[in-house]
Amino acid sequence: MDIFNTPIEYLKGVGPQRAEILKKETGVFTYKDLLYYYPFRHIDKTRFYKITEVDANSPYVQILVRLKSFEIIGEKQTKRLVARAVDDTGEIELVWFKGLKWMEKILRVNQLYILFAKPSFFNGKLQMAHPELEVFSKETQEKGNLSLQPVYSSTEKLKQFSLDSKGLQKLVANLLDVVANEIKEVLPDYVLEKYKLISNKEAISNIHFPVSAHLLNRAQATLKFQELFFIQLKLLKIKHLRTQKFKGNIFVNVGEKFNYFYENLLPFELTNAQKKVLKEIRWDSQRGAQMNRLVQGDVGSGKTVVALMSMLLAIDNGFQACLMAPTEILATQHYVSISSMLQDGLVRIALLTGSTKKKDRTRILEDLKNGNLDILVGTHALIEDTVVFKQLGLAVIDEQHRFGVEQRAKLWKKNPIPPHVLVMTATPIPRTLAMSLYGDLDISVINELPVGRKPIKTIHMYEAQRLRMFGFMKQEIAKGRQVYVVYPLIQESAKLDLKNLEDGIETLSREFPLPKYRISIVHGQLKPDEKEFEMQRFVKGETQIMVATTVIEVGVNVPNASVMIIENAERFGLSQLHQLRGRVGRGSEQSFCILMSKEKLSKEGKIRLETMVRTNDGFEISEVDLQLRGPGNIEGTQQSGVLDLKLADLAQDQNILIEARKTVQEIMGNDPELLKPEHMVLRSFFNKPSAAGITLDKIS
Ligand code: ADP
Ligand code: MG
Repeated sequence: MDIFNTPIEYLKGVGPQRAEILKKETGVFTYKDLLYYYPFRHIDKTRFYKITEVDANSPYVQILVRLKSFEIIGEKQTKRLVARAVDDTGEIELVWFKGLKWMEKILRVNQLYILFAKPSFFNGKLQMAHPELEVFSKETQEKGNLSLQPVYSSTEKLKQFSLDSKGLQKLVANLLDVVANEIKEVLPDYVLEKYKLISNKEAISNIHFPVSAHLLNRAQATLKFQELFFIQLKLLKIKHLRTQKFKGNIFVNVGEKFNYFYENLLPFELTNAQKKVLKEIRWDSQRGAQMNRLVQGDVGSGKTVVALMSMLLAIDNGFQACLMAPTEILATQHYVSISSMLQDGLVRIALLTGSTKKKDRTRILEDLKNGNLDILVGTHALIEDTVVFKQLGLAVIDEQHRFGVEQRAKLWKKNPIPPHVLVMTATPIPRTLAMSLYGDLDISVINELPVGRKPIKTIHMYEAQRLRMFGFMKQEIAKGRQVYVVYPLIQESAKLDLKNLEDGIETLSREFPLPKYRISIVHGQLKPDEKEFEMQRFVKGETQIMVATTVIEVGVNVPNASVMIIENAERFGLSQLHQLRGRVGRGSEQSFCILMSKEKLSKEGKIRLETMVRTNDGFEISEVDLQLRGPGNIEGTQQSGVLDLKLADLAQDQNILIEARKTVQEIMGNDPELLKPEHMVLRSFFNKPSAAGITLDKIS
């Protein structure tokens, strides 16, 4: 048996009882699991800082203090344990918001403690929140001879079984005694050399017990590289297998309908970026393998026409096509705009959503099955089993991030030879995220807006400038333009938001009175038909102002609307702000986006608004968003197992990812079956994933 799969209870110092707790609290079941239970930090035990030496800018520091007093104060949510501690230079406040009972039990006044935390300033006082603490004694001093001590995350339960960080450290030490010599290399030698990585064995030993800060760095770099490398290897392997396994429909003809559309109906010249993507799609769809392509393009970059022309390509080759959108509003809008771009009769097109009447639905399904329909536009209603195509050649999915991988896979099954899949997303995501989330797809980017489009001017205004803002609105309305005013919507407090919206509407109605001005009001509390009615009034130009909560984020297209006012802009995330701004700038007029905010902004809020003012480029904005919020919070990444990384961070470690992917691409290019002797180590990763110790099951 593989020693790494040994149940954890057999490790010296564990036993059945602790094994139970370890499994429950940390998910450590085997030797291997513990080996990969990396410390989240190392403490530099080489020195103690003095209280007067540290401030809010200090990193994690170790200080030695005497506890003077502690008490629990506050009610319910604000309940906390506050302690005072001193050294011979000054005083620091310690605070705990969780585990108060436990802390109360273990803290001793006048005891000497070693504290480890990042200091901050709160109410003018130097403070440490939830510091790690350790009773200082001669003994701890002597044990502190390791200059970089690993700190493992523990829980109250674990601590009750003496498995605090120290306890865990002992277990890991015991484990390394047993298995260190068994740790195998996972990367080819030439890769280690090229990137100056250390061996797997050295890396794992040093990530737990670094011999020096330098080796800790190299261990981290090596393990991060491994982590990202194997994700890429898996993704590119999937891609390779898919290309081999699935034959693809071949679209050889660029035929009648495509050409007719291009020559007679297309109302504008395609941008170079659009042409390039169409070329890529044509190439994909001719080579006999299934296409899986992601098209990323900012709002307004013209993805719809690319989708439409790809669908015409399918139709010219005797296939049907479908276009799936995440909401009914969007699906309807696609249906309307595509129908209007196609002259009557060029293709047969229908719309299928959850609210399609039964009679229509029956007819549509019938036509679809008999091949009397060319294009079906709709919501996820499209993937239901009752929807049967005669011969589906291409499936276009708009706004990918709202559809899961399973839904994509369901579409494949709609045809004996799976249809080509074109995924379009209007939320540009950073390149490195795309590589990880969609690493098995080919990626096209439309990084150019149609010519003649004037970049939207974005202005940040404070409450004090509200009257100026109203004046500006009037001026634009007088020119015949329309204006959006958007309020944030926070799920936890729908009531408060409505209040916010209602107050806003009141002010607006006073400022913009009838009959001169008319206002549409749209929010989440409205029934769908009421919402639709209000939207339509704005779309038709019967109202000049549309006041809305973020329900308009996805969906409306009113080229005459040239001003977007975002209230409480500091409460929106960057990608949301960008999406909202994309609602204007759709016509030929100069458009504006005004970000209204309160005076006092958080550091992050400030960066967000400044970024919006500085640039219209969705890719640039997404990079900032990634830096601010980290990969886990970027829209569309939440359910993705790809981001369950132990060490690597897609925001911080972009360079490592790029190199790892490049390396994998080279390997898959020369030796896709991993048959060469130097790739033996990689092959065993697929045969026996445990050898590398990294689980990648979640990626599909
Ligand atoms: P998105 O990429 O956000 O889906 P759309 O496909 O809705 O963008 O296109 C936005 C607007 O730009 C539409 O009104 C469309 O007709 C127009 N458009 C698309 N491509 C071009 C082009 N090459 N030149 C001029 N206008 C274009
Ligand atoms: Mg679109």
